[in-house]
Amino acid sequence: RKREDIDIPALQSAVTALTPGESYTTFSSLPLSEPTREGLKAAHFSTLTDIQAKALPLAFQGRDILGAAKTGSGKTLAFLVPVLENLYRAQCIGSDAGLGAMIISPTRELAIQIFEVLRTIGRKGHLFAAGLVIGGKSLKEERDALARMNIVVCTPGRILQHLSQTAAFNVENLQMLVLDEADRILDMGFSRDLDAIIEYLPPDRQTLLFSATQTKKVGDLARLSLRDPEYISVHEAA
Ligand code: ADP
Ligand code: MG
Repeated sequence: RKREDIDIPALQSAVTALTPGESYTTFSSLPLSEPTREGLKAAHFSTLTDIQAKALPLAFQGRDILGAAKTGSGKTLAFLVPVLENLYRAQCIGSDAGLGAMIISPTRELAIQIFEVLRTIGRKGHLFAAGLVIGGKSLKEERDALARMNIVVCTPGRILQHLSQTAAFNVENLQMLVLDEADRILDMGFSRDLDAIIEYLPPDRQTLLFSATQTKKVGDLARLSLRDPEYISVHEAA
């Protein structure tokens, strides 16, 4: 038997038993797959930041999240850990599983940073195929790589180009959509691209949206068809 057959039901029960709102303080107090646990440990992450403590239990349970917390508060792990864990529990792993998560970032630079963090915490035995789609390579090269990815970190314009031009780009199995720096995505004029992207995605997905500010515009992201989203806002004393 594969290891997943043994630990996934146990992990799933532990996730169901989480009580969001309770004060979890460390990654080790949360139900995590062994590869993620080890990846976090190797990168010396142990204590949760406030946004992570609030977001992780809800995100593990499949809730949609609108999260606001200032720059530097640890938003990247607040969405990357749920991406790894939720795909792991759903066994959306490996080159045949298709694209399970799409992480949209406003700029190429930020996308590269997210990808580096993903590599850091995902390097301990996760079998996910992850990649960047931010332009800079030919469409064909990106398209070939996309066909094998379980997790893509991308910019709005470029991923839309693939969605609209590549007939074979299959997003039927997409479980999770993440928007990082959602306020900047909107400020930079990507709302229309975003609307168009959403049109291609299956509606029964989990959506996680993070930004540095809880602006009205971000609230207007009703366009994302969030399902009973949990609003999480962290205002730390400076
Ligand atoms: P944000 O996206 O909110 O601006 P980042 O995710 O970029 O914040 O994280 C800011 C910094 O905090 C990074 O250097 C990151 O490695 C560090 N960090 C994030 N979470 C933790 C944690 N739980 N423990 C220690 N450092 C962390
Ligand atoms: Mg960030």
